[in-house]
Amino acid sequence: MSEHTITVAGVSVDTRHWIGGERVASAQTFPDVSPIDGCTIGDISRGAATEAAAAVAAAKAAFPAWAATSRAERARILHAIADGVDKRIEELAIVETTDNGALLRSHRRGVMPRVAHNFRFFADWLLKLEHEDFETRGHTNHVSWDPAGPCVLITPWNAPLMLATWKVAPALAAGDTVVLKPAEWSPLTASLLADIAAEAGLPAGVLNVVQGYGSEVGDALTSHPDVRRISFTGSVPTARRIAASASANLTPLSLELGGKSPLLVFADADLDLAVDLAVEQYDNAGQVCLAGTRLLVEEPIAEEFTRRFVEKAAALTQGDPRDEATDIGPNIHPRQLEKIDGFVRRALDAGARAVIGGHRNGGQYYAPTLLTDVAQDSEIVQEEVFGPVLTLQTFADEDEAIRLANDTRFGLAATLATGDPQRAERVSAQLVAGTVWVNCFFVRDLQAPFGGSRQSGVGREGGTWSFDFYCDLKNTVTAPKGWKDH
Ligand code: NAD
Repeated sequence: MSEHTITVAGVSVDTRHWIGGERVASAQTFPDVSPIDGCTIGDISRGAATEAAAAVAAAKAAFPAWAATSRAERARILHAIADGVDKRIEELAIVETTDNGALLRSHRRGVMPRVAHNFRFFADWLLKLEHEDFETRGHTNHVSWDPAGPCVLITPWNAPLMLATWKVAPALAAGDTVVLKPAEWSPLTASLLADIAAEAGLPAGVLNVVQGYGSEVGDALTSHPDVRRISFTGSVPTARRIAASASANLTPLSLELGGKSPLLVFADADLDLAVDLAVEQYDNAGQVCLAGTRLLVEEPIAEEFTRRFVEKAAALTQGDPRDEATDIGPNIHPRQLEKIDGFVRRALDAGARAVIGGHRNGGQYYAPTLLTDVAQDSEIVQEEVFGPVLTLQTFADEDEAIRLANDTRFGLAATLATGDPQRAERVSAQLVAGTVWVNCFFVRDLQAPFGGSRQSGVGREGGTWSFDFYCDLKNTVTAPKGWKDH
């Protein structure tokens, strides 16, 4: 075992970058700390401009051959990567949980199988990606999805491998090459993915992984003239920096950003279902971009809803995310906990009431919190907390519900609980959101467009939309035989 390998819950993880099919160490490292116990898991190679440039150069060098690889062969390799993920689900799950504190049971049963699915889905979609040829005055129009070139993919820590592979899989399927920069708070599964991809036969340089702080490695990646696409999932402030940096080359951007999504509960809803949906918003300790953190409840049922919600939330178990019985794990980092607590303290100072929670819960845990008596224009209603903190407001009628729901600078998602299908149709048509869930939450089919409106993002990914982003679309117009231009 090399000095650059660490063992995480029995799994070997290389702490170096993966560039051009080789492990590359940086002189500097950064500590990777587990949110479960605050202990350092290992020291990770800390990339900066040099490593960023080397990774883009490797991706550029590998691009022509990968772009020329047949669709069938690219799909075959993506399926082999999916098989590799499937074989290592247990390892990936425990490493991810140790690294970011999300529940082992959901990594094991939900997330990691979906990581494999991400590769299979985009491999299969590639094979059926066609646009029917059409005629213009006897000329044939043929639309093709040409590979675009090296892509920089920058991802957050709340669902590290899941969110990374939503980008890596379509980019590779499209015939692009990739430089992946995972978040510094959870870099480990990206390193394992590099191993899996290499074992699956992905040629050297097609996937590169560079670790490090965004402030040190980010600019060099996002301002690089050889980069043809940047796909970013993370916060709005970082998105602004990336957009500024990418503007030098007008590099196309896909931005999946934060949210402050509403969950609207109408008096005609199945109340048990509505309460279940609301409590579900604490999943991943509230560190979910799509979370419906603003509960908007119709006045006549607000009291009963709150009573049932409190009862249900009180039954949640908070603790070690490796324990099967745990419902809510730790928050990712002391800094994140500080941020969450700051939001709650300021809300309480401004007159909010904590129906439950409102405080830390020892270690890196924050008690599931529900705040009422909050003003629509207050910070706690307008800003993303990214922790287990929900607000509850009431509304008198449908118009007020829609007005409150749309009254933030975000537009990522919205959830409706109602027993009236016509109301669902009417309300969802008026909501500003990339995704609207009616009487459900978190159902995502990869063929659906996914993304945010307003400051929740730019662009949509999923199915053909992903290929539209990762490819240069080309229309070839061919004249009929013997045709002369006059
Ligand atoms: P973040 O913006 O702090 O960091 C995200 C990534 O950007 C990290 O890899 C970081 O190292 C990198 N980065 C930081 N500065 C950079 C720079 N100047 N140049 C290039 N890269 C840089 O976000 P986070 O705290 O890791 O993630 C939480 C945020 O992500 C929340 O706002 C959440 O809503 C959002 N999110 C959105 C979605 C979505 O699909 N819409 C999904 C998950 C998370």
